[in-house]
Amino acid sequence: MARLDELATISQDAGALSRHFLTAEHKAAGNLIMRWMEAAGMSARFDAIGNVVGRYDGEAPGLPALLTGSHFDTVRNAGRYDGMLGVVTPIACVAALHEAGIRLPHAIEVIAFADEEGVRFNATLLGSRAVAGTFDAALLGKSDIDGVTMAEALTRFGLDPARIGEAAHRRNDVLGYVEVHIEQGPVLLNEGCPVGVVTSIAGASRFAVRVEGLAGHAGTVPMTHRHDAAAAAAEMALAIERRCSTAESLVGTVGVLGVPNGAANVIPGAAAFTIDIRAGDDTVRNAAVDDVLREIAAIASRRDVRAAVTPQHDARASPCAPSIMDHIAAQIRAGGIEPRFLASGAGHDGMAIADLTSIGMLFVRCGNGGISHNPAETMTIEDADLGARIFLDVLRRYPHGAKAS
Ligand SMILES: [Zn+2]
Repeated sequence: MARLDELATISQDAGALSRHFLTAEHKAAGNLIMRWMEAAGMSARFDAIGNVVGRYDGEAPGLPALLTGSHFDTVRNAGRYDGMLGVVTPIACVAALHEAGIRLPHAIEVIAFADEEGVRFNATLLGSRAVAGTFDAALLGKSDIDGVTMAEALTRFGLDPARIGEAAHRRNDVLGYVEVHIEQGPVLLNEGCPVGVVTSIAGASRFAVRVEGLAGHAGTVPMTHRHDAAAAAAEMALAIERRCSTAESLVGTVGVLGVPNGAANVIPGAAAFTIDIRAGDDTVRNAAVDDVLREIAAIASRRDVRAAVTPQHDARASPCAPSIMDHIAAQIRAGGIEPRFLASGAGHDGMAIADLTSIGMLFVRCGNGGISHNPAETMTIEDADLGARIFLDVLRRYPHGAKAS
């Protein structure tokens, strides 16, 4: 818990936790994590995308590794447990093995992923995609809000964009992937369960929308003659909210909504917003996306404005491997707790790692009503401790037959 508090102080914003990909704060936090990994008996390094990779060898050098970890980038004004719990917990678990002189029949690799949230370049899961070997090199040309491309940012960080492929792991070198993460929702809290077993991670679709209308004098143009881009964007946002309220696991959010260069006395000539649609079931999500895009086109046509929709991100739902779910559940049961199985509405690094190997996740209860992506995100030290004890068993009793499925 002290380490989570310490990481939370490494921020771009004074008084709030904001730590984005390839910033000076990202590097400082990575260096701190590296020191903790080394103190826990691991060899540790930055990989080619800026992930911190710590390796604890097994009984012999070069054995296949059970991968674990989570992300250490954050959203703006973030909570301190999202991501970082899944970095700090396995480091503590490996430290316990190291102190007891225990080597396992497999290696453990703890990966602190450089970018999961996707805030800086509006492209998510960059660190885990590089590890899975699915990083899209076209993203290197994307710019942040200051016009710095990802390739330039990597170079400034001290990395070589041409070598990102070297971060990829080979299938034969990995046994599987297990992640511990704060739930980021109220399900476990409401049911009185300290931990849960994740069954699948919801798929997500993100878009950027730019609406072009016609700027005009706010005093002279009659209401009947306007092509107000902001009013059109507002109607589109309401249509998204309405459509995404029609199925249980479906959610839709307009998280950014603005009038570029707007002024109080000018009819908005342009508006820009983002769309984020998620569901545990891909059929449900894709149907909602189709309807939302059709509705945006209809609203634009009726209001005589143009709407350009740019896909930003599309991730399928990622089911967890039944064998790993069973293994995690067995460790929970061994502690006298009946495991609660639940789907994750939030995206996680495991979505990308699922392209490389089988995945599983342990959720730890979120306090404060389940609030997350917010400084009020919290968990108790008792739950963190229980989660770490269970996760240590997940790591050291990992079934080697569970590699497939
Ligand atoms: Zn997270």
